[in-house]
Amino acid sequence: MKSLKIEKSITLFEEANKYLAGGVNSPVRSFKSVKGRPLFIKNALGSHIFDVDGNEYIDYVASWGPIILGHAHPEILREVKQVLKNGTSFGASTELEIDLAKKIVDIYPSIEMVRMTSSGTEATMSAIRLARGYTKKDKIIKFEGCYHGHADYFLVEAGSGIATLNIPGSAGVPDNVIKDTLILPFNDIIAVKEAVKEYNNEIAAVILEPVPGNMGVVLPKDGYLKDLREITKENDILLIFDEIITGLRLSLGGAQKVFNVIPDITCLGKIIGGGFPVGAYGGSIEIMESLAPLGPVYQAGTLSGNPIAVSAGIKTIELLSREGIYEELEEKSNMLERGLRQAAESCKVNYCINRIGSMLTIFFTKEEINDYQNAKKSNTILYSIYFKKMLKLGIYLAPSQFEAMFISLAHSKDDIEKTIEASYYAFKETIK
Ligand SMILES: *Cc1c(COP(=O)(O)O)cnc(C)c1O
Repeated sequence: MKSLKIEKSITLFEEANKYLAGGVNSPVRSFKSVKGRPLFIKNALGSHIFDVDGNEYIDYVASWGPIILGHAHPEILREVKQVLKNGTSFGASTELEIDLAKKIVDIYPSIEMVRMTSSGTEATMSAIRLARGYTKKDKIIKFEGCYHGHADYFLVEAGSGIATLNIPGSAGVPDNVIKDTLILPFNDIIAVKEAVKEYNNEIAAVILEPVPGNMGVVLPKDGYLKDLREITKENDILLIFDEIITGLRLSLGGAQKVFNVIPDITCLGKIIGGGFPVGAYGGSIEIMESLAPLGPVYQAGTLSGNPIAVSAGIKTIELLSREGIYEELEEKSNMLERGLRQAAESCKVNYCINRIGSMLTIFFTKEEINDYQNAKKSNTILYSIYFKKMLKLGIYLAPSQFEAMFISLAHSKDDIEKTIEASYYAFKETIK
């Protein structure tokens, strides 16, 4: 088998390291945890991504989630080009923003009113401010392994890059700022009940990824989300679903539609920007009226509701609204899951696959994984061996165990068969 030639990427990474901290603009891109060097990407089309050395890969990173239609989707490009002609940003309202807001309100049972931002981080941090302003309480509950962006008070036992780099949190976050963040294990309803009892009347909100993707994919136990809904309601605590990954991915209406649990505030991002920087949060009119200029909670953004990002979002939602889309995603994802299981079984690998819809993680452990402590038991050395072999075979996976594989509509059966076949070889490397 030909070995991977990545000379240009290596040269560019050396150059990047001179001018960008760690050579990257987001730590998860650095390949540090798999002890490799990051690829520099030249272009992408459909399910395939191409590096600067001309190597081609089947892509399961999907820009960490947004690219559900596949890369460079012609209808998204056409739409964006059209809107681009009118100018790129006005710092004033456009009709497009109403269109996108209407669509979100239509789709999300929990949302009557929306505020748009330019990133997911802004959406979650603003949702917390809104919850605190609305409830006039300070404490929040978050769960180990859930990632909600990089705002100070979330950077405790967070997933994604924090998990990848195996650090407890972040320097530069004063104790004072996280003293109101209560960290509990995911999927443990007793822990929530106890915290609510202990901090009675001090908790503004419970925030979670209803299906975490940032400690690898972890599924909520039966009834867990419903129980959370009940406990929060009984205690005047707002329930915030961070659906930045799951929104528009698990269904048009996200995890809340799939599990039939209605949160008070929903955070969106990733897919709703169709590949452009975006975020949004929304809830009932009563809650959203606490936001300035209507209410006392301040939040703003120079590029919020940017016409290019918004138009890509609108088009994405239109394309995802067609008949049979989520069935198609399920079928492809199920095919991938079955194939990976067969490959892992036949190679006698210790593994655990968690999947829902088009998000999937293969952990290198036999144990069932339903929280962060368990996820951390996965053998990350085996993951990095698997990752590197897959990359060599033309399959681009997240350079970290604690992330998801994202299947897009552009993935063909052939792509998936190739991925499964590559996995046989890659698994064999891991058991050597
Ligand atoms: C990606 C992500 C965020 C942060 O979004 P950014 O656009 O990267 O700021 C927040 N929450 C979840 C669940 C995410 O996956």
